[in-house]
Amino acid sequence: MNKPAELQLATVSVWINGKAVIPQGRMGEVFNPATGQVTRHVPLCDAQVIDKAVQAATAALPAWRDASILRRARVMQKFLDLLQKNQQQLAALVTEEHGKTLPDAMGSVQRGIEVVEFACGIPQLLKGEYSENVGTAVDTHTVRQAVGVCAGITPFNFPVMVPLWMFPMAIACGNTFILKPSEKVPSASIRMAELFKEAGLPDGVFNVVHGDKAAVDAILSHPGIHAVSFVGSTPIAKYIYETCAKHGKRVQALGGAKNHAVVLPDADLEFTADALIGAAYGSAGERCMAISAVVAVGSAADPLIALLKKKAEKIVVGPGDKDGVEMGPLITSEHRDKVLGFVEKGISEKARLVLDGRKTGMREGFFVGTTLFDDVKPGMEIYKNEIFGPVLSVLRVKTLDEAIALVNSSPYANGTAIFTESGGAARRFENEVQVGMVGVNVPIPVPVAFYSFGGWKNSLFGDLHVHGMEGVKFYTRTKVVTTRWPHQDTPSAGLNMPTLG
Ligand code: NAD
Repeated sequence: MNKPAELQLATVSVWINGKAVIPQGRMGEVFNPATGQVTRHVPLCDAQVIDKAVQAATAALPAWRDASILRRARVMQKFLDLLQKNQQQLAALVTEEHGKTLPDAMGSVQRGIEVVEFACGIPQLLKGEYSENVGTAVDTHTVRQAVGVCAGITPFNFPVMVPLWMFPMAIACGNTFILKPSEKVPSASIRMAELFKEAGLPDGVFNVVHGDKAAVDAILSHPGIHAVSFVGSTPIAKYIYETCAKHGKRVQALGGAKNHAVVLPDADLEFTADALIGAAYGSAGERCMAISAVVAVGSAADPLIALLKKKAEKIVVGPGDKDGVEMGPLITSEHRDKVLGFVEKGISEKARLVLDGRKTGMREGFFVGTTLFDDVKPGMEIYKNEIFGPVLSVLRVKTLDEAIALVNSSPYANGTAIFTESGGAARRFENEVQVGMVGVNVPIPVPVAFYSFGGWKNSLFGDLHVHGMEGVKFYTRTKVVTTRWPHQDTPSAGLNMPTLG
């Protein structure tokens, strides 16, 4: 007799000590957002499973930390090669579980792979400093040493790229790692673990667990984990930061966003509108660097809104794996309903609905169409909240001063952009705006892997951004060594504070 379809679904494994395992206990559902169907089950790990992952990572740490830097770099180089060979397959998993279009998924996987490329340069990146004769016959040098067992907790919207911001950097620096990807998109992380093993990574250096708050809490309170990287929404980022601090862990917690694009009247409006359409509706607005608020200055507003409407209504909505589709569905039915709720709210707040995406004609899946509001005011809920959907708000201001003040009054400060032909205006904006990543005629200024990614204010809790040199700093501790050799007949320090003169 055939089993009911529900029981035939595969369960995504966890990855502990180089092996795929399916733990007992609670299970969650993974959806294909384009069809609305459950496609897999995912274990929601408890503290016992997390502890097993920590034990594996702890056991693997001494040998990996002491492996030569060149060996670590060579494993990374092979991993890079395998990621490139499997880019299409990883992108397909992203599209299947997240919903974004295949070309968009390919681009996001590529941006993640670039961090691995950067991590291959770890021999150069870990070089310390050396000063000869800081005192008579006394030398000082610094070394960067691994922090220990590190963990990463990642969001649903970049199932490959955001994990790749973290674990290659940590592992190249000599740490071992436990990744807990979003339980909504668990499969790509397991595929990456298989590829890393194939590249020659010793068992236990990279582990993947799945789960929700219970798994996260077990990570945050486990004494065997020394550093936590988090990317997700602001309330959870704040919780992660505070809880890690309480447990004495190093932490970087990247939060949500409300990114503004300021458009001056001298901007090339056709170019600007194209850029804004991609930044607002790409990935159905489910990007932490999406532009969700356009600040139109003076006479830019009317022609810009006309162009945005014309371009937004042409966007082809549908399943992300179908040729010609430009915008896929949202991640879950709950999230779709939340986004639709914001559209209703915007209408009741008397923002002007220029384009209504509430009806898409799709019979299944979690779709919302492109939506555009004009005359949005700072006090409105649709402006104050991160909607994380294909809803673009236009606010009108009279001057650049007003625009900068508006951007700076936001509690979020991840990314922002200015569109103008004026170098002076752009320079002033770049200098005065209180935001972590700034674009000048670049709508989504996501830094390349050899720079660092991170916001300010409620978009980042912690001090260091991810990847680039800040990633190296986060995943290492600096040790400063002062050296003297007695046979060189230098004076002894005695009881006074040594001055080394
Ligand atoms: P989320 O905060 O709901 O989840 C992120 C991670 O935290 C997931 O692994 C999830 O399992 C876990 N989590 C969820 N609820 C938890 C709880 N109560 N306690 C402990 N852990 C919990 O975020 P999401 O919905 O997966 O992702 C979208 C959000 O991520 C958006 O706010 C977006 O702006 C943000 N994001 C930020 C960046 C950035 O670089 N700043 C990048 C990507 C996404």
